Amino acid sequence: MFIPKRVIFEKGALDYPLGQELYTRFTQDPKVEIFEAATNRVKTHIPGDDLSQMYRHGKQTLVVGIKKSLKFQSCKPSAHYQLPLVSGCMGQCEYCYLNTQLGDKPFVRVHVNVDEILAQAEKYAQERLPHKTIFEGAATSDSLAVEPLTHSLAKCITYFGERDYTRFRFVSKYNDVDGLLDLKHNGHTEIRFSLNTPYIINTYEHATASSKLRIEASSKVSRSGYPVGFIIAPVFMYPNWKEEYHDLLVNLKHELPEKPPHPIIFEVISHRYTLRAKNRITQIFPETSLPMTEEERSFKYGQFGYGKYVYPKEQLADMKAFFTKELDDLFPYKDVKYII
Ligand code: SF4
Repeated sequence: MFIPKRVIFEKGALDYPLGQELYTRFTQDPKVEIFEAATNRVKTHIPGDDLSQMYRHGKQTLVVGIKKSLKFQSCKPSAHYQLPLVSGCMGQCEYCYLNTQLGDKPFVRVHVNVDEILAQAEKYAQERLPHKTIFEGAATSDSLAVEPLTHSLAKCITYFGERDYTRFRFVSKYNDVDGLLDLKHNGHTEIRFSLNTPYIINTYEHATASSKLRIEASSKVSRSGYPVGFIIAPVFMYPNWKEEYHDLLVNLKHELPEKPPHPIIFEVISHRYTLRAKNRITQIFPETSLPMTEEERSFKYGQFGYGKYVYPKEQLADMKAFFTKELDDLFPYKDVKYII
């Protein structure tokens, strides 16, 4: 669970019950600094003299605000709309794509007007009838890490569970699922966990849950009847990678129910980086050991006009063959979306 060092309440947030609840909670904690600020003054309360310090202080900051613009972003191809419950994430993954998206002080922002957000979701869903509308709850955030504070996912899961024409999905590197286990979700919410080997998590995914805790959480939600998926990413081909990814998948198989209620969904994505991301990462994590040597990679044009560096074709083919076989051997009831 996210335990911030400072909490900034934006103007108007205290007019909502969730804003009040968070205010009461954090003002009772002497270890947490509290500020009230206008939206455009939030960053002035986050210290830091250089990019690395600003990053770390930003990651320890919770902003409690209102989602004013209720125009949802599209979220193709995995969903129709992003559901804007939270933005930012307390995790400090060295390779995270959000490093280039969230500015110099990447704070976590929770929105307290969840009822208004859900009312807007309803409007979008009504417009698409008779088709089902899928909402993604973790497009620019990891909502699960703040769930014990906000209970917003629980509210959304129950809301979408009551509607045949809506579906909800989110992904996480955390394990705060206990408040979700007894909800009436009706199988309308798909919960995915991002997984990696203990070596990769310990080396690059700072301030996230261990693979053991994520796997335990996935087992709990699967046993509560949720559709469950795993994003194994980013896959790094380091010495021993096959043994360690094999062990990870074997552990997963042993923890999941023998007969899961839905096929287990898998997405497997190899590591790739852009030069823009590399520049940013090396400023925030000057000592990083992330493998980002252009000479060892192939260059591929991306869909948004900038290129990325991927593993060479032969290594990707080897990775694909490895995961195809492992998943086939271990998980008879599955849905492999892609291995790329
Ligand atoms: Fe980024 Fe996800 Fe890590 Fe958060 S947990 S820093 S969103 S990769």
